[in-house]
Amino acid sequence: MGSVSTRASRLDEMEESESVIWSSDDGKSNDVSTDAEENYFSSDVNDESLNTVASLETAIEQVKALVLETEGVSDERKKLVKRLIELRLKLQDVKDVTNDLPPDADILRIVNSHQFILQKQPLHRTAQYCDKCSGVIWTILQSWYRCKGCYYQCHAKCLNQIVRVCQFLKVGNETDFIYNICPEVGLAAQSYKCAECRVHFTLKNGWMEPRKCDYDGLYYCPTCHKNAALSVPARIIHNWDFDEKPVCEASRQFLVLMARKPNVNLEKLNPKLFYFVEELNTVKRLREEIIIMKEYFMTCREAINQKLLRLLEERQHFVENSSMYSLQDLIDINNSSLIRFLDKTHATFLKHIKEDCTTCRGKGFICEICENIEVIFPFDSATHQCPSCHAVFHNICFAKRDQCPKCLRLSQRKNAQK
Ligand SMILES: [Zn+2]
Ligand SMILES: [Zn+2]
Ligand SMILES: [Zn+2]
Ligand SMILES: [Zn+2]
Ligand SMILES: [Zn+2]
Ligand SMILES: [Zn+2]
Repeated sequence: MGSVSTRASRLDEMEESESVIWSSDDGKSNDVSTDAEENYFSSDVNDESLNTVASLETAIEQVKALVLETEGVSDERKKLVKRLIELRLKLQDVKDVTNDLPPDADILRIVNSHQFILQKQPLHRTAQYCDKCSGVIWTILQSWYRCKGCYYQCHAKCLNQIVRVCQFLKVGNETDFIYNICPEVGLAAQSYKCAECRVHFTLKNGWMEPRKCDYDGLYYCPTCHKNAALSVPARIIHNWDFDEKPVCEASRQFLVLMARKPNVNLEKLNPKLFYFVEELNTVKRLREEIIIMKEYFMTCREAINQKLLRLLEERQHFVENSSMYSLQDLIDINNSSLIRFLDKTHATFLKHIKEDCTTCRGKGFICEICENIEVIFPFDSATHQCPSCHAVFHNICFAKRDQCPKCLRLSQRKNAQK
């Protein structure tokens, strides 16, 4: 159990020797990064032998016993307590995952919160590559794993060297994108090391090309940054720029997994964008009108039977509000597909309320000011709805009054009764 101190001294040795980054004396996990913020679990917890409920429970008992033996506030005790927490978290992870798995429990490995499943089907058509060592995975001959959350895949032999934390877990914990455009700190601030695997860019046997990730502004080695290109949220939100920029593999996974999460309050982040991009106003108007129409469908038996609201199933947040956008929404506004989708949905909803359904049509209004017989609705574009009595008027009719005529009538009646 004295592994904390021996590990620390081994890390010191490795820091001194630039060229030796991954060599390992015991073949076990050789994770260079030990900061808790960089790595959710210390390497000890990623020990290959600690992957079953039984082995973890034994380890927890052992650490508990050690905690009781150590002094009240010593560093050793703090480290043990940290390890105890990590082991308990991992035990919970293993329990969670094994619950949805067949009894054949050997197929699961948990590393850096990835939930790796042993892949049993050999793949013939497409070549598979290891996300750790970049080598080909010979799926017929070699054992390999794929994470069921983020799809990171690697050789079984590379499993214990993984540094990247599961981006699927990160997506669950993080609600915001980085909104600064490519926030670079520079190579010196990174100590000339890859931001993910910490490999030195200055190797004794040649210069390794550092690659900048446009999303987080950090530099990565070619294994951790494969020059994949994606539209970057900060450039979209500040410049309405959808050009695809090179991003590291972790950012690529993160952005792909985040793409459909409605986490961007665009009007709050950059209200001026609505002056420059006409499509945004169209989308905003359609969404606001759809939200009003939704209220009709909540109480209409016919609309419920026809499952009308399910037209918005793929963008559930459009039923809930009109202000939040997902990254994919913004990309689809730019390529016009979202406006086409909203136009079609809006037209279907409108037809139900105004033509097909007597219940919904019966909830329309007659403008009290002009008394025209045309039935109007709060989602019609040239109408105004009184926020207190909910009566609806034509915009031009209401503009001539300083008060809602219905509210005025109601208050006069009240006064007369006094
Ligand atoms: Zn590999
Ligand atoms: Zn994962
Ligand atoms: Zn790297
Ligand atoms: Zn209806
Ligand atoms: Zn009117
Ligand atoms: Zn009113």
